Amino acid sequence: MDNNRRTQLLEAAVEQSFNPVVITTAQLELPGPQILYVNTAFTRMTGYTTEEVYGRTPRILQGPETDHSVIQRLRDRLWNGQSFQGTTINYRKDGSSYWVEWNISPIRDEAGEIRNFVSVQRDITDQVMAERERRLLATALDANADNVLITDRSGAITYVNQAFVRQTGYPLKDIRGQQPSILKSGEHGPEFYRRLWETIQDGGTFQATFTDRSRDGTRFHMEQTITPVRDERGEVTHYVATGKDITERVKMEQALEEMATTDLLTGLPNRSHGEQLLDRQWNRTERYAEAFSVIMADVDHFKAVNDRHGHDAGDRILSWVAGALRSQLRDSDTAIRWGGEEFLILAPHTGLEGAEELAERMRTAVAGHEDPEVGSVTLSLGVATLREGDTKKRLIKRADSALYAAKEAGRNRVSSV
Ligand code: GH3
Ligand code: MG
Ligand code: MG
Repeated sequence: MDNNRRTQLLEAAVEQSFNPVVITTAQLELPGPQILYVNTAFTRMTGYTTEEVYGRTPRILQGPETDHSVIQRLRDRLWNGQSFQGTTINYRKDGSSYWVEWNISPIRDEAGEIRNFVSVQRDITDQVMAERERRLLATALDANADNVLITDRSGAITYVNQAFVRQTGYPLKDIRGQQPSILKSGEHGPEFYRRLWETIQDGGTFQATFTDRSRDGTRFHMEQTITPVRDERGEVTHYVATGKDITERVKMEQALEEMATTDLLTGLPNRSHGEQLLDRQWNRTERYAEAFSVIMADVDHFKAVNDRHGHDAGDRILSWVAGALRSQLRDSDTAIRWGGEEFLILAPHTGLEGAEELAERMRTAVAGHEDPEVGSVTLSLGVATLREGDTKKRLIKRADSALYAAKEAGRNRVSSV
């Protein structure tokens, strides 16, 4: 290529280059370098025409928000014959500002003398604004009281907010790249997680109450929403999980549930919950065709206890009797406060003989106790075991009849039918 062609090519290349280019004199003393050349990209970026800037100083681009420490560093580097790269705010002809990133290099002649500076610039306003927005959003997420966790498409954690860190005890640096399964409490089965993944991989939003475990082992309850995030082409790139801590509410619900199902005086299941337990046991027994017995127990002459020693003493005795019954239960047995001083014991996998033995142990446990004020009380117990074609009602009725028979026969005894 001859020199002429080469010069033309270089000129066209600079003129049409995508990045703004400025060439100045190397004059560093006042009034400073003068602009000798700007390309089309520069006039487009700044709004100045070439005529308006030729012979002027690049300082015309500076303004109130220009970072003068950056300009000072630029000057220092140029004085030393070095190149420079920096970022600051510049101003267009119409006074509007933009973020510019530029590098500037000395151009030397054959003798090595610096004759000019060439500066290649880039308007980075969009990136700066995007970065600011990103930081703003991150701050907003951190200020949010709800937990936020973001994973990539494979489920690897890429972000957690401060609320999450407070709740779980895991800072991001310790769990980045790990799966949210580190929070598993063991409360949910594989079916739960399969449903979760199926939903979000299909692009749906999954909502559920999660029972999770924090770093120190504390269990907590979260109302979670997990949503897929898609890119411009519609491909899922991330999943965002936001969660509200509802541990207090769940605890309160559990306490209410316990209050609703437990008899306050004895701590045993109350009648209405007891009936549910009986239903459940009945269904199991039918399904597996197992043995099943029930015991109806009633305190003897309890009215007299109340009459002689007062209702409070009566309560104390009832509570103690309940404890004595409970102490004789085997793992699968259940004692229910069925009525005032009447208890129903469910004895699954137990035939008549086993139930009679259990009832006898209960009778002895109660009769053997002396209350300092009341003395001893006794129990009468009726045992019934499941027969072919029984209904729940009939089984309970037989236990009641057996109890009646024990009372008739003199009390403080076990009777069965
Ligand atoms: P029996 O040997 O025939 O069972 O005689 P009983 O006196 O135990 O029978 P009855 O059913 O006539 O009396 C039961 C009494 O239990 C009546 C009631 O005042 C008392 N009672 C029921 N529930 C409670 C309770 O929660 N606390 C107290 N202190 N007494 C109760
Ligand atoms: Mg009684
Ligand atoms: Mg009674």
